[in-house]
Amino acid sequence: MTARSPISNLPTHEVTNVPPILGDQDLWGVDKPLQEGLAREGAGWAMQEVADFARKAGAEEVMEWANQANRYPPEMKAFDRNGMRVNQVTFHPAYHSLMALAIENDLPSFAWNNPRPGNHVAHGALSYLLNQIEGGVLCPMAMSYAVVPALKATPEIADVWIPRLLRTDYDPRDIPAAEKKSITMGMFMTEKQGGSDVRANATTARPEGAATGPGAPYLLTGHKFFCSAPMSDAFLSLAYTENGLSCFLLPRWRPDGGRNGLYIQRLKDKLGNKSNASSEMELVDCWGLMLGEEGRGVRTIIEMVQGTRYYCAIGSASLMRQALTQALHHTSHRSAFQKKLIQQPLMQNVLSDLALESEAATALFLRLGRAIGAAETDPAEAALARIGTAIGKYWICKRTPGFVYEAMECHGGPGYIEESILPRLYREAPVNSIWEGSGNVICLDVLRALYRDEGALPAFLQEIEQARGGNSLLDAHLDSLKAMVWESGNFEAKARRITEMMALAWQAALLVQHAPEAVSDAFCASRLGNHWSGAYGTLADTADFNSILERAGAPM
Ligand SMILES: Cc1cc2nc3c(=O)[nH]c(=O)nc-3n(C[C@H](O)[C@H](O)[C@H](O)COP(=O)(O)OP(=O)(O)OC[C@H]3O[C@@H](n4cnc5c(N)ncnc54)[C@H](O)[C@@H]3O)c2cc1C
Repeated sequence: MTARSPISNLPTHEVTNVPPILGDQDLWGVDKPLQEGLAREGAGWAMQEVADFARKAGAEEVMEWANQANRYPPEMKAFDRNGMRVNQVTFHPAYHSLMALAIENDLPSFAWNNPRPGNHVAHGALSYLLNQIEGGVLCPMAMSYAVVPALKATPEIADVWIPRLLRTDYDPRDIPAAEKKSITMGMFMTEKQGGSDVRANATTARPEGAATGPGAPYLLTGHKFFCSAPMSDAFLSLAYTENGLSCFLLPRWRPDGGRNGLYIQRLKDKLGNKSNASSEMELVDCWGLMLGEEGRGVRTIIEMVQGTRYYCAIGSASLMRQALTQALHHTSHRSAFQKKLIQQPLMQNVLSDLALESEAATALFLRLGRAIGAAETDPAEAALARIGTAIGKYWICKRTPGFVYEAMECHGGPGYIEESILPRLYREAPVNSIWEGSGNVICLDVLRALYRDEGALPAFLQEIEQARGGNSLLDAHLDSLKAMVWESGNFEAKARRITEMMALAWQAALLVQHAPEAVSDAFCASRLGNHWSGAYGTLADTADFNSILERAGAPM
């Protein structure tokens, strides 16, 4: 292709072989695994809404907001001009445009506002679409979605706070929650001396008055080392009372109309996720309401963490899909050695391998969404949701940094340059594996579910055994997995191996049942075969590259 514009048409040379700017993206149209998965997992009723949102999120203007929101990151504004402490964070207008897009399209609350089967699947799909363009706003969306089940631990708190979370008029004002059109919520658990090990928390809480226990007011003092989205209207946090580690709801403003004792110390200078503010926070007699039972704070807040972990899996699947779209676009328009890159056999192998990984990740998070939605009424789905969230978070997030890097390399040099957006996706890629429980901790959680929750293994096996007979490699893998689960040995040391095998079994089972043979055969032959190193582009030369790439939306 020859790109001719007054600028490119310089006297020194004619510009050729340069891919056109992608422009508005058809995030829905290119994504067959998403379309099929939505229908399969019970969210066919939301198809139109998801497709409409895909069009909005894929607009070039939204990509430009994302670029600006990352180029001009949030700044801390600790004091007002009179020197009064305000603990605010100021954001570029582009960030507010992104937040408005998300909240006005019901992103944090879609599942709760649509209580019917498939609601969490559609919710996940909406989040997956926006995250392709910008990951920073997904953090406050994730926490505002995930906090709802935790709030239910104390009905009088739920009755006040949940309706505020379900409204869809974006309102960034720093005023008391009761006066706002909509709110967002965050979560402070991590402290300097302990993140994974929250029982090492040192923050303390004492009753404000005579009342104690769930719903009673307390004053918290301590520090929290990682507090993302600190502009949120309220936060869940953990602190010790004399009866143990307990969960509290801390509003930004006290009921007497004053600012609460939340003091931002500084904003973190992060590798990626730049548009989203993450802070360190000092709590000084910070007013809060006890949520859930005293001394059972971990149990209360874990209800929220399950939801944010689901978001980690969605977010990483989404980064994969956008990186794949970019790589397919570039290689379809760029030639080297007399052929389009996408027609070069080795590039076909790399792109096909990426497409398989992306489809497997999408299928898994959508299936997980169905289990989460059905958990309330179906014990087997509840058990699958419990163990499946950990499996999905670990594996999808773990596969993403290498994936994005490989998609970057498909672009050659331009992929390394900021304007390609690949560097932004690349910087975003590791965080979903680290926060909300880093890789090892998540695998230990898989073990906990596997060996302590008696429903988890049967539910998982019932899920994957449905694919038995569809692929001989998968059948053999299922047998090895079952043997490994019961093999004696140092279980903690092999927790990653077990989790990886479970994740691959689940992804393969989904693809064998629901994807075209070209996809499932190549997935099983590589991931479950004997020679898989994990590097992309190592499929057998007999894989049906054209079918895989066409399904992935390649403009062939
Ligand atoms: C950008 C960003 C934003 C964040 N925002 C928030 C937030 O809003 N709220 C919040 O509460 N937290 C937040 N976090 C914190 C995050 O959740 C923690 O960093 C994470 O849970 C790990 O805790 P840690 O940093 O204390 O690491 P550690 O607990 O010290 O763990 C370090 C490493 O050791 C591993 N490990 C721990 N225990 C074991 C074990 N028993 N066996 C083997 N390996 C083990 C972990 O997997 C990890 O790889 C954020 C983090 C980041 C990076």
